[in-house]
Amino acid sequence: MAMIEVRQLTKRYRERVAVDHLDFSLAEGEILGFLGPNGAGKSTTMKLLTGFLPPSEGTARVAGFDVFEHPLEVKRRIGYLPETPPLYPEMTVVGYLRFVARLKQVPGRGLNAEVERVAGLTGLSDVMGRLIQNLSKGYQQRVGIAQALLGSPPVLILDEPTEGLDPSQRAEVRALIKGLAGKHTVLLSTHILPEVTMTCEKVLILHQGRVVAYDTLRKLERQH
Ligand code: ADP
Ligand code: ADP
Repeated sequence: MAMIEVRQLTKRYRERVAVDHLDFSLAEGEILGFLGPNGAGKSTTMKLLTGFLPPSEGTARVAGFDVFEHPLEVKRRIGYLPETPPLYPEMTVVGYLRFVARLKQVPGRGLNAEVERVAGLTGLSDVMGRLIQNLSKGYQQRVGIAQALLGSPPVLILDEPTEGLDPSQRAEVRALIKGLAGKHTVLLSTHILPEVTMTCEKVLILHQGRVVAYDTLRKLERQH
């Protein structure tokens, strides 16, 4: 069974077609690089998949559930890092992660252990008591990824997770994401080509809402 299955997915904002009859699917544990310039429709697709936006046409299924018919079942199975994650700058890292864990209904008894688990995975264990506003951009992005991992959702949807980071922070976040694939099905968007070539085996290139290429990197490289 495909973990993510998108068929003819379309979103129009008045006269503008942001996502135009998109088709793709991801098997369990796969990581797909979602590449395209700003305005290509990456964020819109991700918001459709996470149930934040209703589609104009088409369907999307996550873990077998139709996103629009069973939004709660789907939300429970997706860890989402929005392009601008709603971090609370005045909270500590640990306070924020506990807060999100409660929102995600991580059971009370296991909550602290779950927060420590995701902190360990994302390299946050040493900064748990710091205020989010005092962290570097790279560490703030780790907090964003950590919140997406809470509850160990099978699917991760990461919207430009390396945006705004310096090269060494980008390399760290890429390595982190690479380590998550296999255990999670990952959809990773970026407008920077090397970000996907270094992280993903399969790539979908989006331009003005349409798929212009969708294949393994190896095959795409052979064609160009
Ligand atoms: P990307 O994430 O690839 O940068 P987006 O999905 O954000 O692209 O945007 C796709 C297109 O849809 C762009 O032309 C953008 O301006 C437009 N768009 C996005 N959100 C809205 C909205 N709420 N209302 C109208 N147009 C929008
Ligand atoms: P992101 O940069 O996270 O993809 P959006 O593209 O959705 O964010 O843009 C941020 C806000 O502006 C959203 O509320 C979106 O709906 C709105 N927006 C984006 N593009 C347009 C547009 N062309 N016309 C109207 N609203 C837009």
